[in-house]
Amino acid sequence: MIGIGPELTGPEAFPYMNGNRLDEDDMGKTRTALVTGGAGFLGSHVCARLLSEGCKVVCLDNLQTGRLKNIEPLLTNPLMSFVKADVRDPLPDGVYDEIWNLACPASPPQYQIDPVGTMLINVIGMKNVLDLGVACGARVFQASTSEIYGDPQVHPQTESYRGAVNTIGPRACYDEGKRAAETLCFDYHRQYGVEIKVVRIFNTYGPNMDPQDGRVVSNFIVRALEGAPLEVYGGGSQTRSFCYVDDLIEGFFRLMRSDASITGPVNIGDPGEFTVRELADIILEMTGSRSVIIDRPLPADDPLLRRPDISLAGKLLGWAPKVRLREGLKRSIPYFAAETGCAVKTNLDTLS
Ligand code: UDP
Repeated sequence: MIGIGPELTGPEAFPYMNGNRLDEDDMGKTRTALVTGGAGFLGSHVCARLLSEGCKVVCLDNLQTGRLKNIEPLLTNPLMSFVKADVRDPLPDGVYDEIWNLACPASPPQYQIDPVGTMLINVIGMKNVLDLGVACGARVFQASTSEIYGDPQVHPQTESYRGAVNTIGPRACYDEGKRAAETLCFDYHRQYGVEIKVVRIFNTYGPNMDPQDGRVVSNFIVRALEGAPLEVYGGGSQTRSFCYVDDLIEGFFRLMRSDASITGPVNIGDPGEFTVRELADIILEMTGSRSVIIDRPLPADDPLLRRPDISLAGKLLGWAPKVRLREGLKRSIPYFAAETGCAVKTNLDTLS
């Protein structure tokens, strides 16, 4: 039976639970946040951090890729509530100080299942979120993505790079959807004065990822633990930069709590760059797995290079990631082992 091990269902799955409290705003009132996509990988970490700050949290998710188990430990907190709803539908009434928009399937196999739906989540959903932002005077956080850079011709990617996206390819529903969502944010900001905070997220991993969602870190760890072949697409010379979730969430909160004049877009990601083949080798070594590596074709429009330039996040937010890849994997492998019911064959504590 697959399930989160007991050691990962409590507050320790959410390191922010013991963080500093920010109970009240300047007027002495408890702040209220709406988190769309709040039961997803990143959304659940955002909910946890908000609760640790003493905010009231309304988590909205249609559970298309989000999972209730991600927020179960949080639902015992009286400040937390859950609404099963879709951002493409009218959003539930409420008065919010801040809205965090993380609603969208994010892994290529998942967002390509219903590509029309993916585009509309980013356009209709974003419009609904921004309209609510106008109605409440709420600050709006938008989870944008490094995918807006497409298969980049500038490396590393700076925020000023405008990207190279194939508008008619299989990734366009997500890439162009997220680009349109950024456009809506900035037009609502200019036209209606909505406070916006747009972050461009680079590949991120850690606890609460769905082991089956098809992304490279989760696929490789799960297959290594199961002793199944690791499938490397296109020879594995393409690169990605992998950010540990705690670092990413810290970047989110620094941006969201920054001065209103800072709108973004701001890249948040780890600039350490690895080929996919290197990642496979590291995971095999760290898990002590004897799985073989097999080659599979490169999916259409798969970007060949990706690495964030994070100088803007450093300058504006004083942010840089702290958890290097091996350390982040050390923290993530036990989570995937618990999720899949597999044993880890190495003593992770002794690995450097
Ligand atoms: N990839 C792979 N094997 C897998 C899953 C992904 O080789 O089992 C590759 C994929 O082709 C891409 C990279 O790993 O080049 C990262 O893929 P992922 O789906 O995690 O995220 P992306 O950055 O492409 O959105």
